[in-house]
Amino acid sequence: MTQERVAVVTGANRGIGAEIARQLRERGVRVIGTSREPREGFATLDVTRRDQIDALAARLSVEGGVDVLVNNAGTSLDGFDAEVARQTLEANFFGAMHVTDALLPAMRSGGRIVMVSSGMGELSHVHGAVREQFEDPAMTRSSLVALMHSFVSDVASGTHPARGWPSNAYSVSKVGMNALVRVMARELANDPRRILVNAACPGWVRTRMGGPAAPRTPQQGARTPVWLALLPEGGPTGGFFRDERPIAW
Ligand code: NDP
Repeated sequence: MTQERVAVVTGANRGIGAEIARQLRERGVRVIGTSREPREGFATLDVTRRDQIDALAARLSVEGGVDVLVNNAGTSLDGFDAEVARQTLEANFFGAMHVTDALLPAMRSGGRIVMVSSGMGELSHVHGAVREQFEDPAMTRSSLVALMHSFVSDVASGTHPARGWPSNAYSVSKVGMNALVRVMARELANDPRRILVNAACPGWVRTRMGGPAAPRTPQQGARTPVWLALLPEGGPTGGFFRDERPIAW
C-alpha cells in the first residue's frame, strides 16, 4: 500500500488557499490547512511568527513528515511607505521562506513545494541595478535576502526609484518569491529526495484580495498550484507557471 500523501496549505481559511485545500482533498491528499486566526479544523499559523512555524514543523516531524507545501498565504496592503514595504515582505517573502526552510527537514522523498506568486512578480516590474541582481543566475540565498532587506531601507531613504525598485511592495514581494524558487531549485538540485519547487500565478481571481471584478473563480485560480503540488516524478523544477504552462520570469 502506498503511503497517504500529506500537504500543508498556508492561508487555507479562505480564497484561493481554501480552494487549493479542497481540490487536494478531492485527489485523496490529507491536507493540513493553516489559518492565521485560531479556527477549528486548522493549524494556527501566522507565517510571520517563528514560534508558530517551529510548532508546525515539530508536529509534522512527529507525525511522519509532509509531501507537499503550498505557500499560499499572502497580503496586499493599502498605501506605500517603508512600514508597508517591511510588513508586506515579512508575510509574502520572508514568511514563505521561513515556512519552507522549517518544513524542509520533514519533507519526504518526492516532495513538492509550490509558491503562490503573481504576474506582479514578473521581472519587468524591476529595473536597473536591482533587475541585474535578480537576473544573475548565480544569485545566492544570502544575496537574495540582502537584496530584499535593501528594498525596505531604500524605501525609507527615498532612493528606491533610483535603484530600480517600483513603488509597489506587493510586486517586490512576489519578484523575491520567484527569485527564491530559482535559488531553492539550485539548493535542492543534489538532494536525494528529488524535491521539486515551482511558482504559480493563479491569474486574477475573485477573492477578498482580487476583488469582485476579477474574471477567474477560486476554482480556476487553484488549478495550477494544485497541478504543481501533484507533479509526477521527473516534472519541472525552478519554474513559473500559469494555466499549467511555463511563463516568463
Ligand atoms: P485572500 O485575501 O482571499 O486570502 C489571503 C489568505 O492569506 C488568507 O487566508 C489570509 O489570512 C492569509 N494571510 C495573510 N497574511 C497572513 C499571515 N501573515 N500569516 C498567515 N496567513 C496570512 O487572497 P487570495 O486567496 O486571493 O490570495 C492567495 C494567494 O494568491 C496570495 O499569495 C496572493 O498574493 C496570490 N494571488 C492572488 C491573486 C488574486 O487575483 N486574488 C492574483 C495573484 C496572486 P486571514 O484570513 O487571517 O487574513
